[in-house]
Amino acid sequence: MSGLDWHRAVIKVGSALIAPDGAQCSGQYLLPIARYINECRQKGKEIILVSSGSVAAGRGLVAHGELPIIAEKQAMAAVGQMKMMQNWQRFFDFPCAQILVTHDDLADRKRYINIQNTIRTLLDNGILPIVNENDSVATKELKVGDNDNLAALVAQVSSSDLLMICSDIDGLFTKDPRSNPDAELIPVVDKIDESIYALAGGTSNKIATGGMRTKIEAAEKATEQGINTMIVNGRDSQVFDLLVAEKAVGTVFTRQASPQKARKNWLQHSLKVKGSITVDAGASKALNSAGASLLSIGITAIDGRFIKGDAVNVCDAKGNIIAKGISQYNNSELSQIKGLQSKKILETLGYCPSEEVIHRDDLVVI
Ligand code: GLU
Repeated sequence: MSGLDWHRAVIKVGSALIAPDGAQCSGQYLLPIARYINECRQKGKEIILVSSGSVAAGRGLVAHGELPIIAEKQAMAAVGQMKMMQNWQRFFDFPCAQILVTHDDLADRKRYINIQNTIRTLLDNGILPIVNENDSVATKELKVGDNDNLAALVAQVSSSDLLMICSDIDGLFTKDPRSNPDAELIPVVDKIDESIYALAGGTSNKIATGGMRTKIEAAEKATEQGINTMIVNGRDSQVFDLLVAEKAVGTVFTRQASPQKARKNWLQHSLKVKGSITVDAGASKALNSAGASLLSIGITAIDGRFIKGDAVNVCDAKGNIIAKGISQYNNSELSQIKGLQSKKILETLGYCPSEEVIHRDDLVVI
């Protein structure tokens, strides 16, 4: 993967790899992927898996007609999700954790922060988060719909710097390679525009939801957020040997800016400020020079009404705005814990969702 330096990656594995026959889980293609995940973790890198396959894995266990109705598919997802998780866990000697989300969960500021905190804590504990759409509860309007786009959103929530989509095709081609023998693989895409979308046909795989189009959509979302995106062939075990050797493989969609810059832009320009937090000189210095998180002990005053997940300004004692960030607490909780040490939060509020008031990843110094 020449030139792609990364620390935290989302690896998306599609149904075509998890359940190649469309009716049950199989380990056939997962071993090389699992070995790659192991090697990356041993190098100190962090991985989050987005795995499809629950519906396909449960298909053989729920009676259905030629075309299953929604309730049958949701039942397949419920029973298949367990199979899919077990299928992954047997490849690892560290624990895997299941996170099921819907589009609404990711669109809701509070739940977004909860998902982010959960992923952070799992990674800090050496656990492999495995994310899928909560297909058993989500109806069409609540769904992201396909796991390619879901993986791009998860990459953003988890502040990843790489999104790797493992599919059953080598990457993006100049023409559909299944019907055009002269089609050539495009190794690098620097700009995603209509001409790139024009290269995507529909999906030809009966069990997969996404085709090349949803992969390009995912790449567009991720690269805008500073996340390099790759499409690789997960059926080809050599791909993972090449990846370990840091060789170029598949198609790489290059990010539009560094992740820090993209995140800073997003924090600074896309989020509406709902209030402000005034901090003392010590906190002000720590934020400015040490890249620290904002802790309750440094807070002297709160202004405005905001909820967990809202953006707030951080001001110094003179009222100058020194930073902007996403608060883990609402204004009334902050009024109770301001000036206190983090370890006092639990006894004061009766709960402690986070030791940081604003995590350094959610903070931009102005
Ligand atoms: N969430 C679906 C499943 O696990 C798959 C969606 C997709 O593959 O894009 O069966």
